[in-house]
Amino acid sequence: MSAVIQVPITNDEIVSYNPATGAEVGRVAQSSPDEVKAAVERGRTAFQAWKKTSFAERNAYIMKAREVLISEMDEIARLISDESGKPVAEALSMEIAPVLDLMQYFARNTEKLLKPSKINIGLYALLGRSSRITYHPLGVVGIIPAWNYPFSIPLGEAVMALMAGNTVVIKPSELTPLTGIKIGEIFEKASLPQDCVQIVSGAGATGAALVDAAPDKIMFTGSVATGKKIAAAAAKNLTSVVLELGGKDPMIVFADANLELASGAAVWGAFCNSGQSCSSVERLYVEESVAAELTRRIVEKTKQINQGTGDKETTSIGAMSSERQIAIVEDHVEDFRAAGAKIETGGRRNPEFEGLFYEPTVITNANNDMRAMQEETFGPTLPIATFSTEQEAIRLANDSEFGLTASVWTRDSAKGQRVAAQIEAGSVCVNEVLYTHGIGQTPWGGFKNSGRGRTHGREGLMELVQPQHIHTNHVALLPDAWWMPYSANAVATFRKMTTTFATGSLIKTTTLLPQLWKRIMELRK
Ligand code: NAD
Repeated sequence: MSAVIQVPITNDEIVSYNPATGAEVGRVAQSSPDEVKAAVERGRTAFQAWKKTSFAERNAYIMKAREVLISEMDEIARLISDESGKPVAEALSMEIAPVLDLMQYFARNTEKLLKPSKINIGLYALLGRSSRITYHPLGVVGIIPAWNYPFSIPLGEAVMALMAGNTVVIKPSELTPLTGIKIGEIFEKASLPQDCVQIVSGAGATGAALVDAAPDKIMFTGSVATGKKIAAAAAKNLTSVVLELGGKDPMIVFADANLELASGAAVWGAFCNSGQSCSSVERLYVEESVAAELTRRIVEKTKQINQGTGDKETTSIGAMSSERQIAIVEDHVEDFRAAGAKIETGGRRNPEFEGLFYEPTVITNANNDMRAMQEETFGPTLPIATFSTEQEAIRLANDSEFGLTASVWTRDSAKGQRVAAQIEAGSVCVNEVLYTHGIGQTPWGGFKNSGRGRTHGREGLMELVQPQHIHTNHVALLPDAWWMPYSANAVATFRKMTTTFATGSLIKTTTLLPQLWKRIMELRK
């Protein structure tokens, strides 16, 4: 029997279109709320056996899934490109390669990362007590991803959840449903036990049904607006959620930076995936004295970029994923124009294509009072503003409701570290840009409205387990001083405890011993 259940056809289908050509990529049956609920229940049953598997067994399944992925890599890259509009080159470099790395890392290291450990309990240890911490899986993890990295984000989260001993139900984005189903097929071909990974298909209502089905955790990637709805709906069942939300990520370029590298990084950071990355460079702040030179290099590089359909190996910028998204880009570019910014290149849909192509757009004279410098654009725009001091650069970068990633460019490493530490963002790169989601070993998540909780790294793994504290009294011969009945002697003991034992000081605590002994003897009477 199949390891992965594609929930059967009910009312409707989702049709997946290639945003570069408008051609139909395929159709997927939509799951009804009852089917979503049934999937979560099956996931809960499967959890009972899966949670008992050893880390070595889980490792073997994930490494097998990795082999399946490698053997179908080109076909999968093409599917991702067809559904999302991104170049095949980016499907390989920004989705498949990083998730393969994440898979091997968590397959091999989850046991070590979740190893039970002893906790230092200070003076309690002198009373013959010890504490250790172990980690238990949660149960069923519901994964609701966005469409912009439709393969690597849900697959990476599923791998981490499985390695931690959970089962998974994924509701892929309605814009990329076939890529979601492909994830299920990979686990099926790796012979994962039935119902450990299930895919349910549909749009927002299906995602809402998954939240209502009360899985044991929701891992959500998407907009702030949907994140708030999910947090509110999840609260009804006290389901905890990790929210990976939007960004308006700043790039700060100081005058002493390597301008050739910084200009290349800005172009890639702003335009890869047609700017539809939560960690895209959405605002560039450059020190006044080098603004003209940096801008010249950025515009020159931007004009050399080849835009086209994702299937061509020479395409660097593909189509955008939806009409809704391209309309936001148009609105923001109009806002920049109307507010007095200058469009240096781009600034329109690409007239060579009928699909959803927006030209890579470089904008100068931008400033933080412009609406488009505050709202997430999620498109191929690179607005440039200037600053004159380090403190001003930090202030401008932090002047945002978002705080996902940021980058700082300087040859002065002390300045790089100093500035990075003052930026309000979950990940800050010094002389690098955008790609840290690809480092599965490191935590990923946002400050402020960019999210709650973390994926990836040990911190991300901790979201997928519940810690259990086991406390043992190894010399259980006498009653504890704080037991009942209370008395004047008890109160005197507790009063003295506040200034001795509760300071953590062994020397001070020795002065408590006569009183403590008196109290214990009182209890033994
Ligand atoms: P979205 O919020 O519209 O949709 C995201 C997912 O939520 C989709 O699968 C959708 O079907 C589902 N959904 C919609 N309404 C729902 C509801 N009421 N209940 C449950 N599920 C519901 O976002 P999008 O347009 O797909 O993605 C773009 C956003 O994602 C951007 O803001 C981007 O910054 C963000 N993003 C963040 C990260 C990150 O790691 N922080 C990564 C990628 C994308």
